[in-house]
Amino acid sequence: MLELRDIRKTYYTGKVATEALKGISIRFRRNEFVSILGPSGCGKTTLLNIIGGLDQYTDGDLLIEGVSTKKYRDPDWDTYRNYRVGFIFQSYNLIMHQSVLANVEMALTLSGVSRSERKKRAAEALRKVGLGDQINKKPNQLSGGQMQRVSIARALVNDPEIILADEPTGALDSVTSIQIMDLLKEIAGDKLVVMVTHNPDIARDYSTRIVELKDGMLIGDSNPYTEDEVFTEQRVTGRTSMSFLTSLALSFRNLLTKKGRTLLTAFAGSIGIIGIALVLSLSNGVNNMTKELERDALSDYPITVEKTSFDLLGIFSTISEGSKENACEAGKICTRDDLVKATVISDDGLIKKNDLRSLKAYIESSEDFTKYTDEIDYAYNLKLQVFETDGTRVNPTTFKAEDEADLFKELPASKE
Ligand code: ADP
Ligand code: MG
Repeated sequence: MLELRDIRKTYYTGKVATEALKGISIRFRRNEFVSILGPSGCGKTTLLNIIGGLDQYTDGDLLIEGVSTKKYRDPDWDTYRNYRVGFIFQSYNLIMHQSVLANVEMALTLSGVSRSERKKRAAEALRKVGLGDQINKKPNQLSGGQMQRVSIARALVNDPEIILADEPTGALDSVTSIQIMDLLKEIAGDKLVVMVTHNPDIARDYSTRIVELKDGMLIGDSNPYTEDEVFTEQRVTGRTSMSFLTSLALSFRNLLTKKGRTLLTAFAGSIGIIGIALVLSLSNGVNNMTKELERDALSDYPITVEKTSFDLLGIFSTISEGSKENACEAGKICTRDDLVKATVISDDGLIKKNDLRSLKAYIESSEDFTKYTDEIDYAYNLKLQVFETDGTRVNPTTFKAEDEADLFKELPASKE
C-alpha cells in the first residue's frame, strides 16, 4: 500500500547540506508491524516524517496505493495526513492547557465531523486505550504512560490505515513500555504500524518486520516485500470496490451527519428549481394570452360578403384609361360607353352581384366554416318601418317624427 522509491532527503542549514536519507527503497504491506532500528541520527525520524507526509522528500518518489505523490499539492497532503495516518510521538505532543478529551477531539476537527459525534468518538477511543475515566483531566495531571495512551487514542480516533510511531516508549520506564507496546500491538491488528525505536528487544518482541537504517541508508530488512505479494496485492486492490447499495447507504449516512447543511442545500436547490418552473409557466401563460389576444383582435375585422361588390380600383382605372383613349374634341359633347357599361351590374361590368343564397346554403352545409370561424353573422338589408297609430312614420334610422315635421315646415319658408 506504501512504496518508497529511492527516497532522498537533504537538509540545508545555511550553506551546509546534510544528507539525512541517501536513497531508500522499501515497500510496506497493508497489515504489518514494522520496526525501524538504527543508531541516533541515522535518519529514522526523517524517514517516518516523509512516510507520514509531515516532511517532503528531496528526490525519489513515494507511492500511496500505487499512485505517485510527486504531483501532490498541499490539500492532497492534508487529506492524506487527516484521513489515513495517525501519529504517535515520543514527547506525546499534547496540548497541556486542554482536557484529554479535547486533545483527542482535536484530531477530528479537520475531518468535518459534527461536534457531538466528535465527543462520542473521542470518548470511545480513550476508553479503548484504558483512559475512559480520565477524559476531563489535563495532560499534566497524568503519568507518562497515560499521556502516551492519550496520544495513541488521538492517533486512533480517525480510524486511519497507517499508524506511525516515533520512539513511543523512548521516555517511559520498562514496565510502562511493555503496557504501551501491548496496546500498540493490539490496535495494529488490521493496520500498518511503522514504529521507530532504538531498542532491539522491543523491535524483536513486538514487530513482524525489522528494518535497519544506518547513515541514511537501508542495511537490513527481516521480511522484505516479495514480487509474489506485489502480484496478489494488485489483484486484491483491483477488486476492492464498494457495492452500489453500500455506497448508497454510506452517502445517506454522510448526509445525515450534516443535517443542517443538507437541509440548507436542499432548500437552496429547490428555490432554484421552483424559480425556473415559475419563469417557464409565466412565459407559457403570457404566450397563450398573446395568442388569444391576436385571435380576438382579428375577429374585429370580419370578412364581409355583400349582395353587390364594387371593383373600385377597376372603376378608377377605367375612368383614367378611358380619358386617354376617347379624347373628346374641344367644344363637343361625347358619351363614355365604357363607363356606362362598367357601372351597370353585369357579368363583365365592374359592379357584380353575389349569389348570397347559395353562399348561405354552402356555409350552413359545410363543417369547415364553423371549424375555422369564430362567428358567422347574417344581416338582412331591411329598414325597420314603424308607424304610429295616426299614420305618421317613425323611422329609427332617419329622423324622429317631430324633427321631420319641423323640417317640412321650414322648407316652404326658405323657398319664399
Ligand atoms: P534519527 O531520528 O534517526 O535520530 P533524524 O532523522 O532526526 O535521525 O536525523 C537525521 C539527520 O538529519 C541528522 O544528521 C540530523 O542532524 C539531520 N536533520 C534532521 N532534521 C533536520 C533539520 N530540520 N534540519 C537540518 N538537519 C536535520
Ligand atoms: Mg529521531
